[in-house]
Amino acid sequence: MNEVCFKNLDKKDSWSLAVYEASGGYSVWRKILRGELTPEQIIDELKASGLRGRGGAGFPTGLKWSFMPRNSAGQKYVVCNSDEGEPGTCKDRDILRYNPHAVIEGMAIGGFVMNATTGYNYIRGEFIEPFNRFEGALKEAYAAGLLGENISDSGVDFNLYAHLGAGAYVCGEETALLESIEGKKGQPRFKPPFPANVGLYGKPTTINNTESFASVADILSKGGKWFADLGVENSGGCKLFSVSGHVKNPANFEVSMGTPFKDLLEMAGGMRDGAKLKAVIPGGSSTPVLTADVAMAMTMDYDGIEKAGSMLGAGSVIVMDESTCMVETLTRLAHFYYDESCGQCTPCREGTGWLYRALKRITDGNGKDGDIELLLNVQDKIMGNTICALGDAAAMPVESFLRNFREEFEYYIEHGKSMVKG
Ligand code: SF4
Repeated sequence: MNEVCFKNLDKKDSWSLAVYEASGGYSVWRKILRGELTPEQIIDELKASGLRGRGGAGFPTGLKWSFMPRNSAGQKYVVCNSDEGEPGTCKDRDILRYNPHAVIEGMAIGGFVMNATTGYNYIRGEFIEPFNRFEGALKEAYAAGLLGENISDSGVDFNLYAHLGAGAYVCGEETALLESIEGKKGQPRFKPPFPANVGLYGKPTTINNTESFASVADILSKGGKWFADLGVENSGGCKLFSVSGHVKNPANFEVSMGTPFKDLLEMAGGMRDGAKLKAVIPGGSSTPVLTADVAMAMTMDYDGIEKAGSMLGAGSVIVMDESTCMVETLTRLAHFYYDESCGQCTPCREGTGWLYRALKRITDGNGKDGDIELLLNVQDKIMGNTICALGDAAAMPVESFLRNFREEFEYYIEHGKSMVKG
């Protein structure tokens, strides 16, 4: 186990400024305020660390920060995406709960690097406790003179605000998130232009995930190479994996990239009640499902999971045992995406409804010949044809569930009942 985002958990009030500072917190930020670190040095160190966006896209953080036109005139923004809402994810809320100052320090550093004097942390609407913890940490940071204008007479300005969303999954999409901060309906924008050029209030904006920001200060204090060496090639560092489902001890685990899945399963206490592993969704509900054999041979890093046929996503590992009916599981997931579609584009708005209704008909015992082809056809029409990734997120599980567990769908259609549950 590593300790980058989850540190001091054994200490009382791990989320307090006193505990954070006692373990070296804000030392990088103070170095910046003393003029001992330049934006270029920070970007080089981040590039060397191999840190890639921890929200799902996996884009290299150092490179992303270097894209900001920092010397252009006018306001620029940094935004933290704490709108964690993909089924299976539960890591960012715990970072905000137990280590909020790491997010604040990471965002302040980002603000300095990109010459953005204002930041927003967009926190999911249901996360009342994490929101309150973050607000409490912000108050402490302001009271300690770590945020504000001309901080410690350094000439550096950085103001940071927490913004509570209203619980829409689509607001985790970065442009919908920006619309929501602006007080508008949270719907994704057409791209281009991308937020790096036209973002919040039409100004250049860089958006990173909570875990990405929380990793930055440790990378800069211990060195990019130190972080890179924790992981494997192309997947630097360690990562939080949220393990849920039919395991003995579902929890978040911070482990080195490249850790074998079977070791992660062991950390979670193994299968519940000694049951047999049937399937694994490795990166959150939108990523392709894998069979047990493939999952047991997989390593938990970008390339390892891709080689297995899925994606690392946000690192949300959903473990299913042999009692799981894959038809009913997919129906449940399809309902989620149908419910969360913002309705802006036709393939997603109509397609998610078609997928859900066809699956519901099957699980109601009224499936008919041609339903599998219908599901494959609809998911194919959605893939790549929508404004944002929610469409793909709804389509991807359909293809992989049918490819890996087709006989269960055929059985349900033919017999009007689950092959697993009888
Ligand atoms: Fe909205 Fe779905 Fe289109 Fe995204 S893909 S913009 S959620 S309708």
